Amino acid sequence: MAAENYGFAFDPDGLARALALLRRYLGARPASAASERPLPATLPEDGLGELETLEALAPEVLGGAARLGDPGMFAHMDPPTPWITWATTLWNAALNQNLLHPDTAPSAREIERRAVAWLAPFFAMEGGQMVAGSTLANLTALWAAREVRGVEEVVASEAAHLSVRKAAALLGLRFRAVPVDRGQRLQAQALGDVRNAALVLTAGTTATGAIDPLECGEEAAWVHVDAAWAGALRLSGRYAPLLDGIEYADSVALSAHKWLFQPKESALVLFARWPEARQAISFGGGYLSVPNVGVAGSHGATAAPLLATLLAWGRRGVAARIERCMALAEELASLVRTHPELEIFAEPSCGVLAWRPRGIDDLRGLRARMRGAFVSLAKIDESLWLRSVAANPMADPALVIEAVLAAGS
Ligand SMILES: *Cc1c(COP(=O)(O)O)cnc(C)c1O
Repeated sequence: MAAENYGFAFDPDGLARALALLRRYLGARPASAASERPLPATLPEDGLGELETLEALAPEVLGGAARLGDPGMFAHMDPPTPWITWATTLWNAALNQNLLHPDTAPSAREIERRAVAWLAPFFAMEGGQMVAGSTLANLTALWAAREVRGVEEVVASEAAHLSVRKAAALLGLRFRAVPVDRGQRLQAQALGDVRNAALVLTAGTTATGAIDPLECGEEAAWVHVDAAWAGALRLSGRYAPLLDGIEYADSVALSAHKWLFQPKESALVLFARWPEARQAISFGGGYLSVPNVGVAGSHGATAAPLLATLLAWGRRGVAARIERCMALAEELASLVRTHPELEIFAEPSCGVLAWRPRGIDDLRGLRARMRGAFVSLAKIDESLWLRSVAANPMADPALVIEAVLAAGS
């Protein structure tokens, strides 16, 4: 039987239809996700066929989706993605390379090496690998720290991401939290003994975007910088100095599906001494002709859309988009600062702003009443704040302010 008959061949009409549906939904205002034809409760015995399936799923998959590039979207660390990544992700799906094995990814492994080689120097790192998110990047880095330096403890600030505690638990390492200062930065003088510890410093905390003092902890057995969010600033000549000190780290985590505008799941874990770290996290044997490096087994070519974006935009182009986001956060901050009914937690250092209307206790209710714009919530020192993350270069700060004021009145 020919590939066409099995549904594996290139089908120009089907693919054109898929693109047409995508285009229609991107152009239309958010429709209700209610489909005229609800999905069957159980696996159907007979299939609808591909074209019917596209029509049946479009209201759910496309119509029901959050629109991360809308002007009111100023909430989470999830960016809209550029179309070059849509195209290359389609290539990925069609080719389905598996980077576990050179036979099933003869060129994709090289593309990943290239993407890593392009980005690692901005952090003074030697190499590393792509992983499915910074949760896994943090786990991989701390795993290497345990193997290479025999660390017994993971030390991080109270404001560190929960994935750091999770990694410590998975690796059987003690976790110790260090207090933060008023700006949510790790208090270097409260570090304690870190000679047997992996010290995790955060570059851009999830709640407020605080950047820990990145030169501290010289005596730590291993220093890992969780730059999941703010690491991308290293590509901007203007903002790179905010992360000075990162070059002394033993390892760095960076989520490309945050401020490098990549589709999920795209992140990097980078190491100052890659051959040593790679050796520590490698398993060989069996049917594998090359060792399996890192936590994942089979994994795909997420480097292709990343490399495509970097090639299409160049460093300057990436920096311009991130700088635009930084400007939007500044603009939002200045609107909040000058409005008598609003208060700000701190000036935004890397595109994350915590703010709220004065005298409103029920911020959850306020958020639920908002129309046309989105914010997220963050708990800081037991107090709830609205949180706006500048991940969307098309966001409109005035729209967000308007929506919050309307919902609060
Ligand atoms: C988002 C984030 C993580 C987790 O990254 P994922 O890519 O969501 O797994 C870890 N640390 C910080 C500081 C983050 O902002």
